[in-house]
Amino acid sequence: MLGQMPAQLLLVEDDDQIAIPLIRTLEREDYTVERVAAGVPALERVAAGGVDLVLLDLGLPDVDGLEVCRRLRAADFGGGIMILTARGGELDRVVGLDVGADDYIAKPFALAELLARVRALLRRAGQVAAPAALAPTTTAAPDVVRVDADARRAWVGDAELGLTAKEFDVLALLASSPGAVMTRERVMDEVWDENWFGSTKTLDATIGRLRQKLEDSGARSRVVNVRGVGFRLEIDPQDG
Ligand code: CA
Repeated sequence: MLGQMPAQLLLVEDDDQIAIPLIRTLEREDYTVERVAAGVPALERVAAGGVDLVLLDLGLPDVDGLEVCRRLRAADFGGGIMILTARGGELDRVVGLDVGADDYIAKPFALAELLARVRALLRRAGQVAAPAALAPTTTAAPDVVRVDADARRAWVGDAELGLTAKEFDVLALLASSPGAVMTRERVMDEVWDENWFGSTKTLDATIGRLRQKLEDSGARSRVVNVRGVGFRLEIDPQDG
């Protein structure tokens, strides 16, 4: 086991009354916490690297939090994103839009609940910033998908796939039984926990992004939708 670096959290929150007790709580749990109070500095900080998890307020003074989330994913940020929203009534809309967040928590939230979710998300997000030296050195066939469930990394050939925590979880689950159908219920249960209260549209959006990333990478495997049942990972038989 490698020495564990404390997880690097970025809190994006303009309200001191929320940010200050939250930072105190997170630091007590040995996380390294940086805080910015607006969207643009958040984007800049994440681009500088090393952030494992972003806690993201929606009502920011410059760029809307949803837009920040979209831009982070568009820039291939592979760490976790948890949205902190005061807009309880808009939560369904937020979830339905699927901007690439991994989890959502409505304000006011209990700090214990938030900590539990942060822990869960970091566990899943795993080694997003693992050094390249840990990548397997063997040369693989250029179009074969390999998943390292322990390191939480996936490759097509020698190229690492930039996956979000949820995309990785879905791929790892499907890859654990290639060719077998995983029901939607099983994927929801295993990838989204019992705290998940969003719609299964999020599942479809995650599958859609994963499918696109596999396709873009030239992978031979693809995610097949089994109508009304679920999904399976198919290895293209023509080329096997
Ligand atoms: Ca705010």
